[in-house]
Amino acid sequence: MMILLELDAPRTDIEKIKDKIISLGCTPHELPGTRKLGIGITGATNLLKEDDFRVMKSVEDVVRISQKYKLVSREMKKEDTILNISGNEIGGKNLAIIAGPCSVESREQILTIAEILKNQGIKFFRAGAYKPRSSPYAFQGLKEKGLEYLAEVKSQFGLTIITELLNPHNITEVADVADIIQIGARNMQNFALLEEVGKTGKPILLKRGLSATVEDLLMSAEYIAAQNNFNIILCERGIRTFETSTRNTLDLNAVPVVKKHSHLPILVDPSHGIGIGDKVPAMALAGIAAGADGLIIEVHHKPEEALSDGYQSLSPVQFEKLMNKLKQLAPIVERELK
Ligand code: PEP
Ligand code: MN
Repeated sequence: MMILLELDAPRTDIEKIKDKIISLGCTPHELPGTRKLGIGITGATNLLKEDDFRVMKSVEDVVRISQKYKLVSREMKKEDTILNISGNEIGGKNLAIIAGPCSVESREQILTIAEILKNQGIKFFRAGAYKPRSSPYAFQGLKEKGLEYLAEVKSQFGLTIITELLNPHNITEVADVADIIQIGARNMQNFALLEEVGKTGKPILLKRGLSATVEDLLMSAEYIAAQNNFNIILCERGIRTFETSTRNTLDLNAVPVVKKHSHLPILVDPSHGIGIGDKVPAMALAGIAAGADGLIIEVHHKPEEALSDGYQSLSPVQFEKLMNKLKQLAPIVERELK
């Protein structure tokens, strides 16, 4: 259920409404909007009566949400959510481009790539310190040391850092360095982890699970939103299908479908989506054409020497060429690429 109020509704009226919701055993969530103030209600809303709220001061309307997910649904909030992270927007007109290697491998490697990307105008830098690998014998990431190097990247180049959290035990260290915490595909339905990251209030990049439907993805986002954290960025990164000629099947259908059902921004990860470096640019462009709010792309200064995902990583030269094409594409899809 959702209560709509005038944007300038007095705080006392808002608090009275929230108190009433709590007294009825449900949870209120203030939803920031630009035209109306929304108070989303979760819990046993079937026991609530719309008219009990309609009579309250400042209330303009009360609506029932029919989707299984509530807070992240378009029904709950008509306008697109735009996140402002260290002065850079994700969502809205802006195309957000996140780039960087799959993993932090060494201090020298991460600083080298960060410098190249900074000089190419990139604002969002990705790299994993904790890596979810299919084999327990594969490189697992530099862990705490990796976070230390990422902190150095942040202070030296002023880049916005995106890094993955695998385990709730490391949440404090990761949240200290990360401007955006990544929840990887393998953890999309780790509900305990979703609740914990939700509580940090930090922006969360939630990647679609390997065999998750769009509805599963939105239900997982709802776990984060239920902690009153609406700083959520969704990511289509390919799903498992019967097709074996590519690493995954990048489901670009998900982009317009998510946009229809949710107000949250969605990025496309063509690197994991197709898994073949020289084919990444084509799928990156396709992702933006499909309506994505940006991209997350793996870039390595020496892809052939990368400790993880080298085969799908772009070299700086390939990445620059792609950026030039994206700059041409942006105005065609009525977007801005700064
Ligand atoms: C990654 O971004 O390097 C990664 C492991 O992604 P995913 O969780 O989508 O496989
Ligand atoms: Mn990777």
